[in-house]
Amino acid sequence: MNTSTKDRTGIMLAPLPYPEDALEPQISAETLRYHHGKHHQTYVNNLNMLIAETPYAHYSLDEIVMRSEGSIFNNAAQVWNHTFYFESLSPKQEAPSGEFLDVVLRDFGSMENLKSEMLRTAVSLFGSGWVWLACDKHHKLVVMPLQNAGNPLTHGMTPLLAIDVWEHAYYIDYRNRRADSVSALWDKINWRIVGERFRQAE
Ligand code: MN
Repeated sequence: MNTSTKDRTGIMLAPLPYPEDALEPQISAETLRYHHGKHHQTYVNNLNMLIAETPYAHYSLDEIVMRSEGSIFNNAAQVWNHTFYFESLSPKQEAPSGEFLDVVLRDFGSMENLKSEMLRTAVSLFGSGWVWLACDKHHKLVVMPLQNAGNPLTHGMTPLLAIDVWEHAYYIDYRNRRADSVSALWDKINWRIVGERFRQAE
């Protein structure tokens, strides 16, 4: 045997943390079936094909995102971003902890202002991409629009929340209405996890 386990299995698709219909009516089972089962899976497949027999085959996904560019970066970051995005949502709305809420109030004034800022950013992002809530080295919260497969890690920021504004994330349920899709998604954000990510930020 000259093939290691890692070479045989490569990067794996993370399972959805809830059933496909768990985010209805805000996100339909059909959307999640395509988004996770087809789009996310395809990024995993493409990445494994691209890194096979390259030094990247021995890197963790985080390392590939930090060290690659071009097609390998695009597919690796899309794998990372989607896992993070699906884990940012929850069938039952999870309220932010008091500690995290205080930070939102400090940096945005209110949760409602943070929502407005993320909506405005989602609408003004041209083409495909992601709207991130991230924090900088001083733990200041920032809303960041990043095109295509962009990820705050490569900008020296810690990702806290990702909103996918690629058309495939909303077109089945909302057609062209990106703002409506983000507004509806707001009710499914797992603020407990977002706050936990903030607490663990270095
Ligand atoms: Mn997507």
